This record gives sequence, C-alpha cells and structure tokens, in this order.
Amino acid sequence: MDEKDYLEEVEETKEEGKEEEKDNGYEDVCFLCHRPESRTGKLITLAKGICICSECMQKTMDTFQNNSSDLSKIPGLSFINLADLQNMIPQRQKVKKKKPKEEEPVKELNIRDIPAPHKIKASLDEYVIGQEYAKKVMSVAVYNHYKRVVTGTQDEIEIEKSNMLMIGPTGSGKTYLVKTLARLLDVPLAIADATSLTEAGYIGDDIESVLSKLLAAADNDVERAERGIVFIDEIDKIAKKKDTHHRDVSGESVQQGMLKLLEGAEIEVPVGANSKNAMVPLTTVNTRNILFICGGAFPELSDVIKERLNKKSSMGFQADLKDKYDKELNLLQKVTVEDLRNFGMIPEFLGRLPIIFSLESLTKEMLVRILKEPKNAILKQYQKLLALDEVDLIFNEGALEAIAEKAMEKDTGARALRAIIEEFMLDIMYEIPKDDNIGRVTITREYIEHTGGPLITMRGVLQLEEQG
Ligand code: ADP
Repeated sequence: MDEKDYLEEVEETKEEGKEEEKDNGYEDVCFLCHRPESRTGKLITLAKGICICSECMQKTMDTFQNNSSDLSKIPGLSFINLADLQNMIPQRQKVKKKKPKEEEPVKELNIRDIPAPHKIKASLDEYVIGQEYAKKVMSVAVYNHYKRVVTGTQDEIEIEKSNMLMIGPTGSGKTYLVKTLARLLDVPLAIADATSLTEAGYIGDDIESVLSKLLAAADNDVERAERGIVFIDEIDKIAKKKDTHHRDVSGESVQQGMLKLLEGAEIEVPVGANSKNAMVPLTTVNTRNILFICGGAFPELSDVIKERLNKKSSMGFQADLKDKYDKELNLLQKVTVEDLRNFGMIPEFLGRLPIIFSLESLTKEMLVRILKEPKNAILKQYQKLLALDEVDLIFNEGALEAIAEKAMEKDTGARALRAIIEEFMLDIMYEIPKDDNIGRVTITREYIEHTGGPLITMRGVLQLEEQG
C-alpha cells in the first residue's frame, strides 16, 4: 500500500469511527496511555479502532527524534510502526477471484452433430469389450433420443422417449457403458443408487436428488442438465416387496415417485443438496429431454424366467426336462416385460422404460481381452508407468489366463481384475526401480499362482538381442 492509499484509508476509517461514535454512545481511548477521549482531548485516528492522543503522539515523535535506542525504556511505549498496527486489526476478508473460465459458446444441438449409431458403437468398441447387442441397442436409442431432442414436439407425431432398462450381472460393464457413452456425447451424467432413494419425507435421499446430481455435473447450468443422462443403478433393489404389511417407502413408492421424472415434468430441484429444506435454493428442471438409464443385476430374475420357460415347455407333447434351463448362462437375455412384473417392477414404471436389454456374463476370454484391449486397459496403464523407468512390462498368455481364471472365481465380473493385478504389481513396482540394470519384466502364470517369480531380463541382454 503506498502512502496516498494509506492516508485515504485513514480518512475513511475516521469517518466510519465518527459514525460509530454517534451511534453507540461509547468513546474511544488512547491506544497507548488508555485515557478516554474526554480526558485527553481529541484523539487522532491512525487506523480503524486505533486512536492515539496528541500527547502520546508528541512523546513518540520526540523520543524517536532524540534517541531511537531509548525507545524501549519508556514504559508502555514502543515505536509505532503503522504497518504493524495494521496487522493487529483484522484484515478485511477477501477471497481471491478465480480467473474467469473461458466461456465456451453454448452449442445449439444440431441434427448433423449427433453421431450416427454405427459411429457411436464404433467409439464404444474402443473401450467396451463384448456386449455387442447392448452396444447396438444403446447406440440406436441414444441416436433417436437426441433426434427427438432436436426436433422438439411441434409435430403431431411425437417421438417417444428412449429411456432404458439394462439388466446384467455385477461387473459386466453397465456403469462403464453409460459413462463411456456420456463422455463420447459430451453430455453431463449423474449416477445414482436406487437403494439410497426413499419416498419424500423419509430418511434417505429424495427422488429429486438425482436431478441435483445432474445439475451439479452440468456446473449448475440448467439448460445443459436438461439434455443430460441419469443412470440409476441397483434398480432391482426397489422391486415391490412381496407379502409385506408395512408401508414400502423404499420400494414400490420409489417406483411410483420416479414415474413423473421418467416421463418428463417440471421438477423443483434443490441446488447443491439432496433434499428440499428452507436453507437450500430451488430451481426448476424439465426432465422431458433427460435420458434415464436404469440398471440392475436382478439376481433372482433368472428364476422367474426359468419358471416361465419350464411352465411353457412342460405342457403338451413336447414336454422338456425340468432342468433344461438350469445350466443356461445367459438366461437373462430371454427376459420379457411380464417377467419383470413378476419380479416386482410395477407396470407403469416398466411402461416408461421402453428399451429393455441384457448384458452377457463375462467369459474368461472376454476378461483376457478386457485386460489388454481397451484404450485405457489396465495393463496398458502399468506398462506406461514402467516405461517411464525405461522398463518393458510383458504379460505372457499364461499369465493373462491365470488372472482371468482368478477373477472368474470371485464372481464380480471385470471388477475383480484390478484388485488381482494390484496385489502382485505392488511388489514389481516396489522392487524394479531399485535396480537400474533391469530392462524387461515378464509376468508368468507361475508368478500369478505363487509358484514362481517373474522373468527378469537385464538391459545388457536386451541390447545383445537387438544386435543379434
Ligand atoms: P457394473 O455392471 O456392475 O456396473 P462396471 O461397469 O462398474 O460394472 O464395471 C467395473 C469395471 O470393469 C469397469 O470400470 C471397467 O473397467 C471394467 N469392465 C467391465 N465390463 C467391461 C467390458 N465389457 N469391457 C471393458 N471393461 C469392462
């Protein structure tokens, strides 16, 4: 602060000081001798809350001029450094302004900007292994959905909303598919868990909270949020409970509560909170163009399907064996709306999710491909890390299969892969940087199964290989 600024501030604080004095009837005291203004005569205000009487001011100046080293001998007096005094009073609170983000021009959605289904699928293929049918269905549904958004409802032929219901075992890539899709389309995505939702007024999150999340994902830009995707996971957990005499606040009522959202309505949404209360601001979000994707593992659904299929085949002359469908792996792909109703989803809810499809359970071969093929495959990530130490990391086929076999045992789909790899990569990542001479590490089946170690190749040997 230069002198001029400082003087201006002193003037300001003097003015404020006077006002305050008028207001509260208190009087100031000298900062040094502690006598009130009525005894000392007019005080000089140095800064807000710091006044000094003319006598003390004079003494200070005299002493300073005569012998500055004697300052410390004067009781209660030390050299007044105005800058220090400034430090003693609370600074005005200021928050440094963020640099304004570069405003991106708001893009109007144009029908030509929407990638065609085969392009959407091709992009999904780069990340998601297998699930060909699911990827195809989703690409078409998303394409149609955004076409609907662009055309609006002016015509008399209104295109139906393409909300989806995705059925697939844990770790088969449901969440991953939706995340990849939202990233490719550059639309905001909210992921919510149906188990945390309850009917409004009960402990748990209100149903509108899913829209709050979407709004947050869209940086509170309502228009962007209104074109986003909401993924509600574990939707099977809000099936109607059978034979209960209690009020079902987290099952059927949540399905009922969601009807309005799925269909399209103006919903009051709390901004930055999970439930409405007096302290949270509200905003209105129209859900007409929000794409809702519900997903769940529906573990007991295969029993329902089996029962239906068995009933059908045990009648008439072509009666089959009762256990014909017991071993069928992808029974979920035979699902019908009727089965879902029997499972406990209410018809109105299902009616608002016109696109129903299943994902395959992952096989060993698919798991091996998931390890190495996607654009950001786990192995590629580790290879990149070690490449920074100039070490090649190689997994031989046996190792990949051993990892996939271990993952199959855990029955959590591809989710188990990372945990397994992290467990043995810890040692590699710890030991390898110790020795600069190591040029290549080959992970083998024996290493994964704890019956041997990884193959280590020294840099010298690698050089010889290259030359020879
Ligand atoms: P869920 O079906 O339970 O929602 P996720 O989508 O969360 O399973 O899958 C967990 C992880 O497994 C993902 O983050 C992804 O890395 C991996 N994964 C699952 N399925 C696939 C797949 N088909 N292709 C590539 N990676 C997958």
